Amino acid sequence: MAEANAAYYAARDPLGAAGDFVTAPEVSQMFGELIGLALADLWARAGRPEAAFVELGPGRGTLAADALRAMRTHGLAPPVHFVETSPVLRAEQAQRVPQARWHAEIATLPTDRPLLLVANEFFDALPIHQIVRTPAGWRERMVAFDGATFVPVPGTVPFDVIVPAALQDEPVGSIIETAPAAAAILRDLAGRIVAQGGAVIVIDYGYAEHAAGDTLQAVSAHAYADPFAAPGTRDLTAHVDFSALAAAAGAEGAHVYGPLGQGAWLDAIGLPRRTEHLAAVTPTRAGEIESARRRLSDPAEMGTLFKVLAITAPGWPPPAGF
Ligand code: SAH
Repeated sequence: MAEANAAYYAARDPLGAAGDFVTAPEVSQMFGELIGLALADLWARAGRPEAAFVELGPGRGTLAADALRAMRTHGLAPPVHFVETSPVLRAEQAQRVPQARWHAEIATLPTDRPLLLVANEFFDALPIHQIVRTPAGWRERMVAFDGATFVPVPGTVPFDVIVPAALQDEPVGSIIETAPAAAAILRDLAGRIVAQGGAVIVIDYGYAEHAAGDTLQAVSAHAYADPFAAPGTRDLTAHVDFSALAAAAGAEGAHVYGPLGQGAWLDAIGLPRRTEHLAAVTPTRAGEIESARRRLSDPAEMGTLFKVLAITAPGWPPPAGF
């Protein structure tokens, strides 16, 4: 999954109508603006320290450009650090945020100041492991090549000991997932902000509580596709386990808020007012602005499936919206 996604992102800009999928920052400028305002508010209440803005997997740089513009109106103009591996997307990001510094991994982010960090639809692209219940017990689900295509097959090593007690008795064929790469990154980030100060906002689609289920999916040209076919040409994602991310952050001593539905969070930090204001100043686009609000916030659209988790350094004020 990691190799397939690295190849996929390295070769293309997948975002937008002509690509494979559309993300919240590409739906409306309001998304990045409200994130910028939430971070500026938190930073102001933390005493306006010299902080850095960080984004993981910034896509086209749209969220960052919108957030930085909103931050500036409140006196926050931090240095910008992007964690991005794709050369194609780095070039896109440089067009919108030319002052950014790029990193291939979080290890090289600055260590000398608080970090105001956001990751939207980043964690869902990180590799997962699946464990499947077979008649002989739980086994890791491996990927084999049958001569023509890749196929999932159970491995031979028993995995029963790592299956949570509540899921041990799921029926044969059940699949559970674990995302050690995601948990490790969040744990590292939590350790950073506990030591340096700051906050992390994670927005992604996923579940609040761990449950059985196969959520690995491939998307190509806005339609679901076989995740085992044509590796490197399709976006592979899995639902994010927010309970695992919260536990990883808590283990480092960070304060954890949420997860909250994206709709409830955006509504709490000012989406309705921002929608009204933009519609009033550009009445010819009022319909388009209102439909973007609905897409971001309605439970039937991105409002409930997408969730927001925030973590802060001890001693920092609570973030708005939770
Ligand atoms: N946040 C953007 C883009 C989401 S797509 C938006 O909301 O529009 C996922 C992003 O994460 C892309 O920028 C992709 O290149 C990046 N990415 C995926 N896996 C990565 C990894 N292992 N390390 C760094 N960046 C990665």
